[in-house]
This record gives sequence, C-alpha cells and structure tokens, in this order.
Amino acid sequence: MIQVPPARPGQSEEEIDTPALVVDLDAFEANLDRMAEFSSASGVALRPHAKTHKSPVIAHWQMRRGAVGQCVQKVGEAEALAWGGVPDILVSNEVVGDAKLARLLALSGIAKVAVCVDDGAQVEAAERAADAAGRRLSVLVEIDVGAGRCGVQPGPPAVELAQRIAGSPHLIFGGLQAYHGRAQHLRREEERERVIAEAAAHARRTVEQLRQVGLDCPIVGGGGTGTFPFEMASGVYTEIQAGSYCFMDSDYALNLDRSGAAVSTFRQALFVLTTVMSRAAPGLAICDAGHKAYGVDSGLPQVWRRPDLRLTGASDEHGNIAFTPETTAPKLGEKLRLVPSHCDPTVDRYDWYVGVRRGRVECLWPVAARGRMA
Ligand code: PLP
Ligand code: MN
Repeated sequence: MIQVPPARPGQSEEEIDTPALVVDLDAFEANLDRMAEFSSASGVALRPHAKTHKSPVIAHWQMRRGAVGQCVQKVGEAEALAWGGVPDILVSNEVVGDAKLARLLALSGIAKVAVCVDDGAQVEAAERAADAAGRRLSVLVEIDVGAGRCGVQPGPPAVELAQRIAGSPHLIFGGLQAYHGRAQHLRREEERERVIAEAAAHARRTVEQLRQVGLDCPIVGGGGTGTFPFEMASGVYTEIQAGSYCFMDSDYALNLDRSGAAVSTFRQALFVLTTVMSRAAPGLAICDAGHKAYGVDSGLPQVWRRPDLRLTGASDEHGNIAFTPETTAPKLGEKLRLVPSHCDPTVDRYDWYVGVRRGRVECLWPVAARGRMA
C-alpha cells in the first residue's frame, strides 16, 4: 500500500504532512556537484550506490553530472532502477538463488548489468542462468580487502575465481569489487587513510597477478562517503561507489579531518519532518516520528539547528523531545526537522521524497526501490 503523497509542489514546508522525508534540494545539488568535481579532478569514475536513495530519479540527477551508472545491493533494487531507465547497474554484492539470477538476466535485456561473486559455486550458477537466458553476464570477483565480510582472499584465490569466470562461455570477467565498509566510519582521517592504503595494496597486487595470467581488470570498484578521496588517489581504483554523500547523516557528520574538525565536504540534505503532537507532559514535547520513522542503528536523530532541543527517547510512533526551561518551548503543531543518524534505513521507510527549496515544495519523487530487499 503506497503512502498518500504528503505534499504538493508549490506548498510551503509548513504545509507538508508528517512524518515526511524531506530533501533540501540546494544542499542535495551542492553535494552532487562536489562529488562530480572530485571525480573529474581525479579521473576516477563515479558509480554512486543506490542502496542509499533507492530512486531512479536521483540516479538520473547523478548521471547528468557524469556518474557512469549505479551500484545496488539487491536484484529488486536493480529492477527498480532499470525500469526507471538507468542503463548501467552493478550489483556490488553476491546473488544466490536461481530465481534471483534469472531476474537479473531478464533485466540485461534493457540495461547493462553486472554482479559479484566470491565462490566457485556462484560462478557455476551464474553461467547456468546466463546460458538458460541466452545472454552474457559480466561478473566481478569480490575480494576481502580487510573488512572481513564478503569476498575471496586477494591474490591467487581471486585470480583462480577470475579464471573460472573468463573460462565460462556465457560470462565476462568484469573486474574486482574491493569495498572496505568498516573504514568508512573510522573517525580519524589518518586511520581511514591507513586502512584504505592497505585495501588498495591488496587490490593492486591482485590486478598485477591477473595481468600475469592475461586477464585485464576493467573495473576496480570500492570507496564510500568516508574514504573516497583515498581510493581516488590510489591509482588502482577505477570506480567510486559512495552512496550517503548525496544526503549525509549525523553519524557521517562525526568523521573528522586531519585538523580534528568535522569533515565538511558535504551538506546535510535529508531530513525527517515531524510535528509536535502533544505537550501534555511537563518539559517534554512529543513529536509524531518515532523509530518507525527513522533508522536508529546509529542512534537517535538530532533536531536540526535547535541545540536547545534533544530527542531523548523514541517508541514506535512517538519521539520524546526534551527542552530546558530557558528555551522557547516547541508549540503544539510546530514542525521540526530531524537529522537522521543513518540515511539508508531512514529512506527505506518512505514512499516519497519531498523536495524542498528555500521553504517551498518543488517536487515529489517516489522511493521506487523501497522495501526491495530481495
Ligand atoms: N559500496 C558498497 C559495496 C557498500 O556496501 C556501501 C555501503 O554500505 C557503499 C558502497 C556506500 O557507502 P556509503 O553510503 O557509506 O557512501
Ligand atoms: Mn549506510
């Protein structure tokens, strides 16, 4: 059941029904411009991760600024993007199950698609699926560059898997997936740089060993919002997969630069708009956005530009906002912007983005891949 659109273009932000997912379009566009500049200055391609925005509309905004395509984690996300006209999609993840592989192959009729593997059994299954579909599929080898999640070990095990792909009649060896997730949120810049230097060394060694057996590596992909400058400077990575940069969140805002100040490359562009729905309890304003309205895996949201207000607790549909006696107490019906602590799971709770520019609703975009976790 799709949510009723919470606003109409032309309305004021005050008139948006809540809880609603609001994008500040000036900040959003500034973030896209900034990342496009990094990409063109470094000569490293940008393939933003759509796990964050789940929207072909936003994919098109990114591609209009030079992004070469999109990454997704799930076949369902790939479908939503391809159906929305995105021409080049990398599933930066392993896909297990014949039904899912058949769906991916079906998509390759309308978009260029690629998928990752970290096991010989996945290569065999991909070959069977491509053969059955009568198509060729591009397959990347995911290597574990130190994060300890998915990925075969760099070096000989990765080369062996690449050779199996290259030797499969319906598969094309697409390159290496070399993303380091844990590095993104290491707070100190020196730490992020050190961990990505190690990741790049693993990738570089593997690319060289592939070359020695005659295999070219068209894509070496990785990098996120926390580390992309280091992958861009490595000379090894060919594509950056940052996702959160277009919106940001309060957890990413805790990353520090070399001087110990908060990294300020990107602006906060994503908000959950909420309404004060009760002032019955003393010293407390209750808002209509609880933890069904935002991800809480990285903590509770902050109240935007109101350091005097603090979200101290959340239940399913209620947020508790505490305030001090000195402050102007939030009024019943007052609207407040909340800054999500983690953008990705927050977006997945909404059917609509409400695009706002300087206080006016400009557009509504569907979160087309919402809930597409399969
Ligand atoms: N690439 C891969 C494979 C990921 O799993 C993720 C996020 O988890 C990203 C890129 C994007 O990371 P971020 O949203 O932190 O920029
Ligand atoms: Mn995330």
